[in-house]
Amino acid sequence: TTPANTDIFTRRESDARSYCRGFDTVFTSANGSEMIDQDGTRYIDFLAGCSSLNYGHNDPDLKQALIDHIQADGIAHGLDMHTDTKAAFIETFEKHILTPRKMAHKIMFTGPTGANTVEAAMKIARKVTGRSNIIAFTNGFHGVTQGALAATGNGYHREGSGVPLNNVTRMPFDGFVGEHNDTTAFIEAMLVDQSSGMDAPAAIILETVQGEGGLNAASAEWLRSIAQMAKKAGALLIVDDVQAGCGRTGRFFSFEESGISPDIITLAKSISGFGLPMGLVLVKPEHDVMGPAEHNGTFRGNTHAFVTARAAIEKFWSDNRFEQDIARRAKLIEQGLQAIADMIPGARLKGRGMMRGVDVGSGDLAGEICARAFQNGLIIETSGSEDEVVKILAPLTTPDDMLLSGLDILIDAAQNVLG
Ligand code: PMP
Repeated sequence: TTPANTDIFTRRESDARSYCRGFDTVFTSANGSEMIDQDGTRYIDFLAGCSSLNYGHNDPDLKQALIDHIQADGIAHGLDMHTDTKAAFIETFEKHILTPRKMAHKIMFTGPTGANTVEAAMKIARKVTGRSNIIAFTNGFHGVTQGALAATGNGYHREGSGVPLNNVTRMPFDGFVGEHNDTTAFIEAMLVDQSSGMDAPAAIILETVQGEGGLNAASAEWLRSIAQMAKKAGALLIVDDVQAGCGRTGRFFSFEESGISPDIITLAKSISGFGLPMGLVLVKPEHDVMGPAEHNGTFRGNTHAFVTARAAIEKFWSDNRFEQDIARRAKLIEQGLQAIADMIPGARLKGRGMMRGVDVGSGDLAGEICARAFQNGLIIETSGSEDEVVKILAPLTTPDDMLLSGLDILIDAAQNVLG
């Protein structure tokens, strides 16, 4: 094919374009942890579709499962009708994910975006409790539809909405009211104090590691205290695992080490395993209150996504070898980031598992490091309210030597920028 002329994008694509501005080339293929552009330049991918490619690009087994399905004229799209592939996904997910974790949750398929899973979760909580207030957290990110946006902390995203977004109270995330302040006690006090004007919450929604908000990782203790507080307040606890789930922090779910049992869990991004659109919420049976068609969505039956999602669970989650790989790779990432932190006074490591980054103190510096890294063949993004965190979201399957090569590019970039 003839190379694409990039003028087409500036001329015809809306200014809402975002990632393409930082990665100014035209990509044509991808394999494992690499993306290749139309000039044949190879880039190591430390963005991985913002954690929607946890198993890398075009995993051969997932790809084969999809090819076989298409070859046999399998259903591509079936609304939410019963299909053999949906049954197979549910059975596999139950067997390898839910049952071993003693989770009784029901699976509710939603529209295929993270934002739609959040909408569903908040609607369920409001219906269950008959309340409307949602407690969310500073620096949280839950999506750009109006409900999910209302729960999102970052003002830049909310400004685009054009209407007031109501019925959400944002409270300080773990560690965000000074070192010695207990944010759970603070929320409890606000709920008890009539003069705070804070309505009893339908739900408390949180990310255990704030993906867009700067990789702020909540402590296990804080998660447990929030879970307890939610229970006491009669609110449902929603863990938004759209970005931190599917193995990103080391276990399949990001909250596993803390021992909490969220009422509702949202999954999208990497649940299909192949970058195909798919979203679902896991909801405790006693809260499974949505009637038929109350949370409809044309693409709840993306059967191609079910095929690859099932293959991914079978391949990576039927034993604990993958968790060991993630733990080992997380260590390599930590060491690489520490090398960068050591060059910058005040720099701090952020995040957990393979959802890691380094706060370099300013958005300008983080942006320069990422831009330089891209020139040298690494796709990497920033995160945080000021874009001050250089953020690594490499596919969890990245071979150790490629991970180290990517880290070397990043360390070199930091050295170059810092002069
Ligand atoms: N929740 C979290 C935690 C996310 O990171 C994101 C996406 N970055 C979303 C929700 C929204 O997902 P989507 O872009 O698929 O709507």
